[in-house]
Amino acid sequence: MAHDFATLRLEGVTRRFGTAADAPAALDGLTLDIRRGEFIALLGPSGCGKSTALNCIAGLLPLSAGSIHLDELRVDSLPPERRGFGMVFQNYALFPHMTVSKNVGFGLLMRGLPKDEIDRRVRRALDLVQLGAHVNKLPGQMSGGQQQRVAIARAIVIEPPLILMDEPLSNLDAKLRLEMRTEIRRIHGELGRTTLYVTHDQDEALSLADRIVVMKDGRVQQVDTPAVIYGQPANLAVARFMGYRNELMVEATEQGGRTEPRGPGIRLVGTRVANERIPQGRAVACIRPDEMFFVDSGGDVANRIEAIVETVEYYGRESLFMLRTADGVRLFVRSAGGARPGDAVSVSAAADRVLVYPQEAAP
Ligand code: ATP
Repeated sequence: MAHDFATLRLEGVTRRFGTAADAPAALDGLTLDIRRGEFIALLGPSGCGKSTALNCIAGLLPLSAGSIHLDELRVDSLPPERRGFGMVFQNYALFPHMTVSKNVGFGLLMRGLPKDEIDRRVRRALDLVQLGAHVNKLPGQMSGGQQQRVAIARAIVIEPPLILMDEPLSNLDAKLRLEMRTEIRRIHGELGRTTLYVTHDQDEALSLADRIVVMKDGRVQQVDTPAVIYGQPANLAVARFMGYRNELMVEATEQGGRTEPRGPGIRLVGTRVANERIPQGRAVACIRPDEMFFVDSGGDVANRIEAIVETVEYYGRESLFMLRTADGVRLFVRSAGGARPGDAVSVSAAADRVLVYPQEAAP
């Protein structure tokens, strides 16, 4: 039987594949407290260990080290069915020969619930995912988005204390993905079930989660709210992953108690230093393309950079301009401006939107 909880605690959860003692850890020391009702996104590039983390929590993979607790109860040696978590997979994993209502009710049937209660709960779950009119269809007669709704209904019908979702929207086309994102947020709002959601998609994590866990190479890089992950990445790896695509090598010098990075053609006065412990000296200034803008070449702008436009990608309201400075530095600017390939331009960024990280962290 599922145990409800106030806090799910992951302590040093580690998983190595292979028997060698020095086998690299796919998941290395994941420590995290998840509170009841939270929507947590595990975000990171392919291969960073997100699915491994989810499978360890679900009980589908044994831990190599660490422990998992629901309040005082240690659950990492319990089989998946005794943890009682709901799972939603990327490929839906529906039974193709069963109708929608049979798919959704299967878990309840296995738990030996009486038929009338199964019927009632299945109907409620299908209403919640807005599939009440499709109960007798087979999965093959439904669209990808509808099948994913069935999978979500099947996970929530057992009223699990925790719902685990592994890239549930990856197989859907772009428009459906956006619609289902809103649906998932709505369902979470209505049910308030604690949810752990694995994704490599920054926008999905930012728009769905209460807190985001950013992972790289099996390790947690940062855990925080979407606003902090977006605006104040803890290190260069998180900044890169969150779209701080422009990187300028600068020299950080102490000026009246604050760090002022200077580089060829750039003087970023008043720039925010992302890491308190930034050493004086070589550093990397990171700027998002949508936070750079074109400026007049003559004006008195402190952090103006001169460059030549190389390519322009048109996106409708804005374009993405790829520029190159005289020093060969490539810059990306996302703007509604109208420059063309070959144009000499000047660009800038607000000093408080430039983040500076120690350069030794850069590869
Ligand atoms: P993706 O989004 O591509 O699924 P992920 O972040 O979910 O990536 P994992 O699937 O957790 O990453 O994999 C993490 C690391 O563990 C990868 O380097 C992967 O090659 C390795 N790995 C995963 N499963 C196994 C396995 N069964 N045997 C050996 N190595 C594995």
